[in-house]
Amino acid sequence: MLRRPLLAAARSTRCRQLIEHAPFASALIERFVAGQNLAEALPAISALAQDRLVTLDHLGEDVTDAETAEDTVQAYTQLLAELDRTGLAERVEVSVKLSALGQALPQDGERIALANARRICAAAQDAGTTVTLDMEDHTTTDSTLDIHAKLRADYPWVGAVVQSYLRRTEQDCRDLAAAGARVRLCKGAYDEPASVAYRNQQDVDRSYVRCARVLMQGSAYPMIATHDPRLIGITQALAVESGRGLEDFEFQMLYGVRDTEQRRLAAAGNRMRVYVPYGQEWYGYYMRRIAERPANLAFFLRSLVTR
Ligand code: FAD
Repeated sequence: MLRRPLLAAARSTRCRQLIEHAPFASALIERFVAGQNLAEALPAISALAQDRLVTLDHLGEDVTDAETAEDTVQAYTQLLAELDRTGLAERVEVSVKLSALGQALPQDGERIALANARRICAAAQDAGTTVTLDMEDHTTTDSTLDIHAKLRADYPWVGAVVQSYLRRTEQDCRDLAAAGARVRLCKGAYDEPASVAYRNQQDVDRSYVRCARVLMQGSAYPMIATHDPRLIGITQALAVESGRGLEDFEFQMLYGVRDTEQRRLAAAGNRMRVYVPYGQEWYGYYMRRIAERPANLAFFLRSLVTR
């Protein structure tokens, strides 16, 4: 019931200003965000990389000018140089939102985002790691998959993300599986209309299983991004059924969510990757996490009244 208003708040400038500048903000976000800059986040990243893989997100989205998009490229290239320097690049890749690279700019947004993403991919290749393109709301899906395909011509290891709540996704999985791409499968975190998305949780879960089966049975590298114990069990069975070993797919979860389960899966020999966000533009990401789970909302409200 609260998911829609919370997701609307995630895109409201007024709510953003209220919460971002609140005195308790940094204490509030520390469960889900590793730090407000790379130096703050590095200890958490190094600790996680001991037993897990990591994908790092320099927070930022919905950029409306080319200068801010350029700042994002600089942040990622510096981050990749640091991963190279510290030897972390072997276990740590990066996740990038194309809207932070200029995808929505009114003039030539798609071309600018592609050029910016290419620069990040080149820096990742130099560092010896990979890039995954996060997926945003459904109005960007075609453009994001198109940019992904173009990048793969030069950087075949670039990963795409698909969302099982979208009706189109099973077909996208077939296409990406045929292309042998790295594919992160998640349920989807935005408020989407019924014309394009399943609105019922059971339908989203059923779609998740169909998509996972397509990815497991094809030549994709599946990245199973969910905290859902039932779906984790089903995808493990699908991997066995498809003749995949533990090295042939990975699980992914978010920083601050089900840490014990992450460690358990890693200790059992699974490739387990944690999505770690850091940076100052945490508002949209944080609000989507609150919208996902009532317990997170209770935590958020408690923080408001106890400060
Ligand atoms: P949910 O339906 O939220 O939860 C299912 C079950 O999981 C719960 O009933 C509970 O049993 C368990 N669970 C969930 N959270 C917790 C918790 N905090 N503690 C204990 N148990 C819990 N979305 C996008 O739209 N685009 C992206 O690019 C994207 N990238 C992602 C990358 C990663 C690595 C992950 C994990 C998620 C990503 N998402 C992305 C978010 C995703 O779409 C979902 O919104 C989010 O993961 C919640 O869905 P869920 O699969 O965990 O299932």
